[in-house]
Amino acid sequence: MDNQRKKYLVVLGAGESGTGAAILASVKGMDVFVSDMGMIAPRYKAMLDEAGIQWEEGQHTYDRILGADEVVKSPGIPPNSDVIRRLVEKNVPIISEIELAGRYTDAKMVCITGSNGKTTTTLLTYHILRSAGINVGLAGNVGRSLALQVAREQFDVYVIELSSFQLENMYDFKANIAVILNITPDHLDRYDHKMQGYVNAKFRILRNLTCEDAFIYWQDDPVIQAQLRQMVTDAKMLPFAERQEEQTAAYVDAENRLIINSPVKSLSMPRADLSLSGLHNLYNSMAAGLSACLLDVKKEDIRRALSDFEGVEHRLEYVATVDGVRYINDSKATNVNSCWYALETMTTGTILILGGKDKGNDYTEILPLVKEKVKAIVAMGLHNEKILQFFGENAPEIPVLDTCSLADAVAGCRRVASDGDTVLLSPCCASFDLFKSYEDRGTQFKEAIKAMC
Ligand code: ADP
Repeated sequence: MDNQRKKYLVVLGAGESGTGAAILASVKGMDVFVSDMGMIAPRYKAMLDEAGIQWEEGQHTYDRILGADEVVKSPGIPPNSDVIRRLVEKNVPIISEIELAGRYTDAKMVCITGSNGKTTTTLLTYHILRSAGINVGLAGNVGRSLALQVAREQFDVYVIELSSFQLENMYDFKANIAVILNITPDHLDRYDHKMQGYVNAKFRILRNLTCEDAFIYWQDDPVIQAQLRQMVTDAKMLPFAERQEEQTAAYVDAENRLIINSPVKSLSMPRADLSLSGLHNLYNSMAAGLSACLLDVKKEDIRRALSDFEGVEHRLEYVATVDGVRYINDSKATNVNSCWYALETMTTGTILILGGKDKGNDYTEILPLVKEKVKAIVAMGLHNEKILQFFGENAPEIPVLDTCSLADAVAGCRRVASDGDTVLLSPCCASFDLFKSYEDRGTQFKEAIKAMC
């Protein structure tokens, strides 16, 4: 590139992250072109127009794309798509929105990834920091685009939820605190059904960490353990676990107190004071608490925020009790492992609603808990064959109802549930067969339950 010419940046995909990246690049003086194969939402078009950025929708004009000095790829665009393949052939650097944004801020970055619990932990960490008066932004998968905030605001700290898709195109970006909550099979369709590809993407969060930085992770996760044996990082290691071992930084002691020990500060509080229940949320609280301790938040602020956090919609969300039956919306449980944690918290007979778009599920993981706690399964989806077959063969004593609409599924639950039971929507599957999104599924479920009250 000659010195006279402005850098030409192409942004692929004009959702929250792409639009933010385009605006930041334009603020930084680049020539920017945005191309989206789908239709761009009106509010993003308005933002691009207002910033004077050219865009196209419903197509990719290769003449305008392949000449880019650099490309920002939205996380939803698969790496094997035609446009990406052609850019790779031409050796055009492809980065993520987070990578771009990281070049233009010195704010401290708390970056959170994992197969399950990212949103909960990100929002909980944000809640602790914000209620302690820290000038903090919320970004990544949840919240607004990091790039847009870097372009328009001045935060001292960002809490960022990172999916493996976002991590794929990060190179020089540096976290100050990196969190990996857990790694279980998910999105394997994107990684050629090879688990290692997915693990490698998650571990990109550790790139560039120095001895000043910290890595927080679940100590008992076998996948994380195996990966750590094969690599080195200079970061301070802060593992958390339910029970203390030699290195454990956060754990529960014999008096049922949550103990958090970081190099900056330590605290303890009764586990019973945590606002979020369940083993998985204990882990999420530990990760958030460790991050806050590292950022030197006052102990009383951390304790208070861990006990007054209100939880996140569609994650083990209590809906109502009808005829003595509790209804729980865990629509966000789109893989088998998150359903395992939901079942783990069940203390009554459970009617489990499963089904949707299967992502290569193996239900073996939840079989012991299903046998222990589930009185009936209600399969809700357009293709329930796999669920009917698996549980028919492996748990023939548990009745499985076959339904293909939410109304039928809820009616089925009502028929089989009795006083004292819990109906749990924790479907292990994506929602796209019957619903627009997991939010749509959870919202419709809640409406159906509220209509029975
Ligand atoms: P993500 O953003 O990673 O998808 P969420 O916080 O939205 O995670 O939670 C998704 C589901 O995963 C929840 O419904 C909950 O049942 C389960 N879950 C939450 N935290 C954890 C955890 N630490 N380990 C395993 N499962 C979890």
